[in-house]
Formats: sequence, structure tokens, C-alpha cells
Amino acid sequence: MDALVIHSAGDLRVEDVPTPPVLAHQLRVRVRFGGICGSDLHYFQHGGFGTVRVKEPMVLGHEVAGLIEEVGAEVQGFAPGERIAISPSRPCGLCRFCQRGMQNHCLDMRYYGSAMRTPHVQGAFRREIVVETSQAYKLADTLSDREGSMAEPLSVALHAVRRAGPLLGKNVLVTGCGPIGALIVVAARHAGATNIVVTDVGAYPLRSALKVGADEAINIAEQPDGLAKFTADKGQFDVLFEASGNERALRGAFDVLRPRGIVVQVGLGGEMTIPINTIVAKEFDLRGAFRFHEEFGIAVDLLNKGLVDVKPLISATVSYRDAGRAFALAADRSQAMKVLLDFD
Ligand code: ZN
Repeated sequence: MDALVIHSAGDLRVEDVPTPPVLAHQLRVRVRFGGICGSDLHYFQHGGFGTVRVKEPMVLGHEVAGLIEEVGAEVQGFAPGERIAISPSRPCGLCRFCQRGMQNHCLDMRYYGSAMRTPHVQGAFRREIVVETSQAYKLADTLSDREGSMAEPLSVALHAVRRAGPLLGKNVLVTGCGPIGALIVVAARHAGATNIVVTDVGAYPLRSALKVGADEAINIAEQPDGLAKFTADKGQFDVLFEASGNERALRGAFDVLRPRGIVVQVGLGGEMTIPINTIVAKEFDLRGAFRFHEEFGIAVDLLNKGLVDVKPLISATVSYRDAGRAFALAADRSQAMKVLLDFD
């Protein structure tokens, strides 16, 4: 079966990889669509990020939806022909963090398309994949496969919102509105945030964030002091979601976050220098948010019931055979939010 295999920076190939046999509790799935994530782009453009490097050929991808083709002998509750979103989160279930419901911190996590461990965990950008039933979430007839492939990034946003705590009635700032920032707008609104302001340096992502419900979008490239009006009374925002991974975005937001405000850092940006004195003096809570686990099921429920709309964030669909063009488009923030690969 064809798969998209990264060998090193810029060297992404369509290769024939074997599909393993279906074991008793597994499903064989015909992958339909796969979303290109920032981490896939990093592997493609730079061969990795930070200390994580591609050291051996690895199938990319972890945001996929598809059609069940075959079910294992012991499988119940799934049948060939059903459409599912596939969670790429595969924790061991046994370690101390899994036992405490913190599966995203599993000591033996095998997350699709990740070079964090060696041998690397092979990903889901392939025409056919064998998954565990615990990874499979059925899609409603009213939901397209394309939307189903958005369950994974929506899960990341839901987990970030959960890390922030209650958002009912809160004034929220989101810095950086690529797909994750924009989905945080969706998730924060659903959690009851009454005012959501987004910042970015690009016009296209800002327009996209407005389409999914942001109250106000500020282009920091055009208006470097665009947040100044929120500095009154030690800052107007209750919660900051930092989704750009940019040090200046984080520092700038500190001036408009009220005392005892909550900072949720979602964007990965390598090393940053931050003003610890401000964190102390304004008593900020600084929190990370990394991946998700049970939020995947919540994301699919929200999508299936039509409670959230992610369609405005899907910019283009490109055949996997044209992956070079798809990845170039995904990297172009002037015209793309989420780019999907079509594996038909
Ligand atoms: Zn575990």
C-alpha cells in the first residue's frame, strides 16, 4: 500500500509499505483524508524540531479518517463499511500516568508519525492502516470524512481549553491563529467564553478565526500596538492561549492579562526567555498543554452533533500523489489553514 515516507528534510516519498494482518481486536481501515499538521511540516521542512530528528524513514501523519474494510475475529460494535476518525494516541494503559487518566503523559506512548522515540512510530499517511478498536470513533452520516479528519486538531484545542479551567464568562486572548489557535477559538466559545480576541501576523489566519467565531482579530504586523487598549487596570484578559510559539507574542500578552490570569502555552517554539518578574508580580498561572487523550471522543461527539463547525478551516484537499504541492500549500499561511491529503 502506498504511504508517504519522510527520509530527511525535503525528501518525502510515496513508497509501498506492507499492511500487517488484522488481529482479533483490530480493524483494517481504508484511509480517506489526512490533515497536514505543523509537526508534519517541521519534519518535511527541517527534518524535525528541537532535539527531535528523523533518524530513519518514517511514515508521516496523525490526523486521519477513513472507512472500515475488515474487522478482526473478536471485534464487536464495528462493521465493514462504517466511517471512523482514528485517534493517533496509543498509550500503554498500564503505566502510572495511564492509570491516573493522564494518558498523554504515558511512559510508553506510541503516537503516530512521531520521531520522539527510536525506532520511530510510523504514521497514518497511508492508503490502508490497521488500528485498535480503542482508536476508532464512528462518524455520523451528516459529517463528511474531511470534517472527521479534523477531530485530532480539535482534540488538541479541547485539551488546551480543559487545561485553562472554567471559561464561562471569561475574556480570552488567543495569540497565533493557525489551525490550532482557530480551533481554540471554537473550543473556548463552546466552553462559555464571552469575549475572544485573536492576534496573528497574517491576514488569512485572522479572517479564518473570525469565520469560526472570534469577536475581534488584530493584525500585530500591521498594528504592533494593537493590544494596547487592553492594558487598562493591569490587563483586561482572564485567560491567554499562546498558540504561536513566538516569544514576542507571549511577552506582549503579559501586559494585557489581568493579575492571577491563566497562561496556557500550546505553541511549541523552542527556547524562550520570559519575564519571570511579571509572572511573580501579577501571580500568573503558567500552564502547558500537550496533545490529548479522552478529548478525541469529545471532539468526535461535538462534530457528529453539529455543535461545532470546522469546515471554514479546511482550505484545500490535494491528492497524496501530489504531496510536495500539498506540503508547500500547507506552509503558505497567506492562503492555507488546514490542508488535507486525499488518499483515494
Ligand atoms: Zn502508559
